[in-house]
Amino acid sequence: MGATALKHDQRSLIQYMKGVGPKLAKILSKLDIYTEEELLYHIPDTYQDRRQMPKICQFKGDTTIIFLGQLERVVPPRTSKKSKILEAYLSDETGVIKCVWFNQRFLEKILKQGRRFIIKGKVVWNTYMNENQVQVSDIEWLKTETCLQGIMPIYGLTAGLYQSTIRNIVQTALQLDLTRLDCIPSRYINEYQLMSLSEAINTVHRPTDLRCISKARERLVFEEFFYYQLQLMLHRAVFKKNGYARPLVTDGVLLTQYQSQLPYTLTDAQQNAVTDTLLDLSRPIAMNRLIQGDVGSGKTDVAMMALLCAIDTGLKGVVIVPTEVLAVQHYLKFQARFSGLGIPVYLLKSKLPAKEKRFIIDQLNSDMVCVVVGTHALLEDPIELPKVGVCIVDEQHRFGVMQRMKLREKGSVHPHCLFMTATPIPRTFMLTCFGDLDKSIIDQLPPGRQPIQTYFAKPNSMKKVVAFCRTKLSQGDQIYMVYPLVDRSETLPLQSAIASHQQIQSVFSEYKVGLLHGRMNPEEKSAVMDQFKSGVYHILVATTVIEVGIDVANATVMVINHAERFGLSQLHQLRGRVGRGAKPSFCFLVGSPKTPSGNQRIQSMLATTDGFKIAEYDLKIRGPGDMLGTRQAGIPPFKVGDIVRDELLMIKAKQCAQRVVQNDVNLQSSEHRGIAERLKGRPNLFQVEALD
Ligand code: ADP
Ligand code: MG
Repeated sequence: MGATALKHDQRSLIQYMKGVGPKLAKILSKLDIYTEEELLYHIPDTYQDRRQMPKICQFKGDTTIIFLGQLERVVPPRTSKKSKILEAYLSDETGVIKCVWFNQRFLEKILKQGRRFIIKGKVVWNTYMNENQVQVSDIEWLKTETCLQGIMPIYGLTAGLYQSTIRNIVQTALQLDLTRLDCIPSRYINEYQLMSLSEAINTVHRPTDLRCISKARERLVFEEFFYYQLQLMLHRAVFKKNGYARPLVTDGVLLTQYQSQLPYTLTDAQQNAVTDTLLDLSRPIAMNRLIQGDVGSGKTDVAMMALLCAIDTGLKGVVIVPTEVLAVQHYLKFQARFSGLGIPVYLLKSKLPAKEKRFIIDQLNSDMVCVVVGTHALLEDPIELPKVGVCIVDEQHRFGVMQRMKLREKGSVHPHCLFMTATPIPRTFMLTCFGDLDKSIIDQLPPGRQPIQTYFAKPNSMKKVVAFCRTKLSQGDQIYMVYPLVDRSETLPLQSAIASHQQIQSVFSEYKVGLLHGRMNPEEKSAVMDQFKSGVYHILVATTVIEVGIDVANATVMVINHAERFGLSQLHQLRGRVGRGAKPSFCFLVGSPKTPSGNQRIQSMLATTDGFKIAEYDLKIRGPGDMLGTRQAGIPPFKVGDIVRDELLMIKAKQCAQRVVQNDVNLQSSEHRGIAERLKGRPNLFQVEALD
């Protein structure tokens, strides 16, 4: 048969494949294709069925067609050289038809008399000329006869790459012995009713029947997901084995003391999360848990209880948050709760005088117990965390898989880690990006919370909103007013925080209005937040810097200007800044949505306050990359699979991977040897050094 064996041990570089070479390899690298296998995973975007193309005499108006025609002549542009329209006549044995291109004058170069083209377009009746025309959407110059047969794959391209070129090299790659890629035991493949991998690869690149394509794609997605899940599981297994941590066992006195000083009792959901956490902490394996709970569900108390376990065993606690503003807030909150228990709390900021910084770091290294709150600066290399028992990472969605690993690997003994997020993470994300974590979900808000009443207001009814705000201010409540821009923009006709600050201050002249935005330095920001918290400011004009974690229970009104400019989860986060106490709270979405999606976002905000519903909806309209930020969230770059669309396959792949590692975590059985080989050839997605 003469098939070349695919090398598994080293990734067979595409450059050395027949018909490729360095120049083409460089072009392919723009599509992230470096190996033969990656080429095979570059599956067509779509297909053209060229088996029964209509003849020109059969064309009917208002239909989309694909046909083969020979170029008779190009019509010289009638008007100026700048004319954007290109016209040419094409013929077949049954007739001649005019084809029209808009804004594609560059095609003149290939439109030469006598050449044959496959044209895709729409047939339209031109009443002035009294003839049918084809408005061309796609054109392919037919250089060889082979492109005519059957169902043609249409690949995603990049500059300098042609359909014919990529088709040719894919056909070459298909000559390789693909059965050797099929390493997942066939009993699983049969059970999950999948195609063999080699058949699937062949099918997507040269289908004989359009109906088989989706089944073939499924198989490729499964393959991709399977190896991803497998890597995740193996990494987790290694970590569980090597991730020694000090077990934190307490008599519970300190915890009871803490709870008794709270002005409330924990909700059942909070209590459950605490129970999960305490159990993890009591083990000699580092905790790696995600606490997921909507804004205001009371995650902080769970964190505090975990920290107390560290303190109680003579160790330290560390709290990492994404922004300095939030660090200050947490610092104050933790200090208020812990000072009564005699536990010192320190704030480690990036711009701290060297002496103070040194002092805090010394504290971390000393034998004294303490809690240190800081931003990611805490992860900077010179800082070791040798005596840290528990590490809390708040607002986890800004904190990727890679940072998590970096954190865990700090020090010879791993700290127990607790990650907290208010961004509801849809199930698919849980299965992929967060697959390395255990989870607790707080699905209950503290009692007495009233749902935030949300209203939509057109900009011209702002007067009413202002009147409402005035009433609330007179009752002693505080107000947020959010704007999409910091300052005036030349190009966007939007209100900005800085400009509006002045206006609002003059409208509410008897109250004090603060200003908070991302261009202020951290000290200025925290000063403003402090003053808002302590009631010096009654109104806070801000940009989205207040989106995360800010907690002022007395603020009950949120006015979001140009609401159509914000993403859905952003709106949800912003709204979550109010409704944090027992008083009724209100959110006004002020805007004039001009796009359907802008309108839909506002409608969904009006329809629900359920963060999970909002997240699922957001995922559907925006896609995973945008939602959490691909790099940050550590969403693996799947070539074929789509974690939203292919959720079911992800579940199957995970299940399958689980069964594989269940009794053979080292992949040593003969059945799994192929899998182990294939894993070696894949980039390690979980190596900290490689990815950070
Ligand atoms: P988040 O989950 O958004 O971090 P927080 O922990 O900041 O929420 O809690 C929000 C507010 O609710 C805080 O002011 C907190 O003191 C209060 N809170 C937390 N748990 C309870 C509870 N069980 N009962 C009443 N209020 C609570
Ligand atoms: Mg919080």
